[in-house]
Amino acid sequence: ADPLTQADPRVAKALGQELMRQQAQIELIASENIVSRAVLQAQGSVFTNKYAEGYPGKRYYGGCEYADVVESLAIDRLCTLFGARFANVQPHSGAQANTAVMLALVKPGDTVLGMALSAGGHLTHGAKPALSGKWFNAVQYGVRQEDSLIDYDEVERLAKEHRPKLIIAGFSAYPRVIDWARFRAIADEVGALLMVDMAHVAGLVAAGVYPSPVPHAHVTTSTTHKTLRGPRGGVILTNDEDIAKKVNAAVFPGAQGGPLMHVIAAKAVAFGEALQPAFQDYARQVVANAKAMGETLRQGGLDLVTGGTDNHLLLVDLRPLGLKGNQTEVALERAGITCNKNGIPFDTEKPTITSGIRVGTAAITTRGMQEEDCREVARMILDVMQALRKHPEGDAKVEMLVREQVQSFMARFPIYADR
Ligand code: PLP
Repeated sequence: ADPLTQADPRVAKALGQELMRQQAQIELIASENIVSRAVLQAQGSVFTNKYAEGYPGKRYYGGCEYADVVESLAIDRLCTLFGARFANVQPHSGAQANTAVMLALVKPGDTVLGMALSAGGHLTHGAKPALSGKWFNAVQYGVRQEDSLIDYDEVERLAKEHRPKLIIAGFSAYPRVIDWARFRAIADEVGALLMVDMAHVAGLVAAGVYPSPVPHAHVTTSTTHKTLRGPRGGVILTNDEDIAKKVNAAVFPGAQGGPLMHVIAAKAVAFGEALQPAFQDYARQVVANAKAMGETLRQGGLDLVTGGTDNHLLLVDLRPLGLKGNQTEVALERAGITCNKNGIPFDTEKPTITSGIRVGTAAITTRGMQEEDCREVARMILDVMQALRKHPEGDAKVEMLVREQVQSFMARFPIYADR
């Protein structure tokens, strides 16, 4: 047996089961992806043993020679990928990256202006239960009632009224292109700094299939594990040397201790992969797949928030079929299709229920799916939903049937096949 199975059979068993779960099901969680074997290898490496507080060439520990190599590679590749002058690859996560930027650029009590969670923003953009909402005077903008698009005039009005120090643009659930230049113009108008959190679309931006915020924002943050297809983690980019210095000090020693060198090694590998021409084909396919899936879902009677998508995600409005997000999420999971319930703009249901689901195509595209495959996935989703309309607790027969269909379908798109 392998070392893990010998040392800890219970963890080894769960790990094996998780592998089988990932192999057998259809992964539609918009914030997830499937990393390469190379990324897994780098992350599961001896760098996990290494303390490397500080930055390449300026560490607080000995023995950092090779840590410097991988961190410098990660920084250089990330800067090339996004055409940025400065990068910090140490944030442990997206939330950590956003917290570090706030620590660098604003003070507790300052006004910040970000997108409301209920409209598709993230917790770290000023939501009440999060540090960003507790420690700052967070004002929130939303989307327009009539078309669910960001209301730039409202953003401008709120900015003029509240004079924020920091404006935050970016999203967890918004299927359209954002006018980064307009955000920058609003920030300049009121003397605010603009932070863009491109976590969801970073891979699409890297590949040039979604507009880059980097030339417009004072500082850009991201996760590395969504469309960018790297290990779980965060990064910060800027073209401004003064902001870069503040950000570096805010990440370490401001908000974090030792960097996760094994994750940084894996980030370097993933950024290297994203620099390959094949990654552009991947990102183009992600968007084409989302559009194809969206069309079939609409033909099946569902509404899409904003009517469609420009990126990797769809916000599906379930109200035309009379379904709720929570029941749909669990029914789909029983059928081997994983997604998450998600509030839609102006949702009248509680966040634990919701009127929508969010689906994304980053992971299934990594598995090799193309448009017709995604239409097939959409048809399976519709089968489960139609059955759910008649049987609100779920139709076991239909769900089992779809589950079998999912398993044989996914066998055509193997991952980690030799494990
Ligand atoms: N920012 C955005 C826009 C996100 O969607 C997310 C996660 O979903 C985060 C930040 C937080 O990232 P993490 O979960 O790595 O802290």
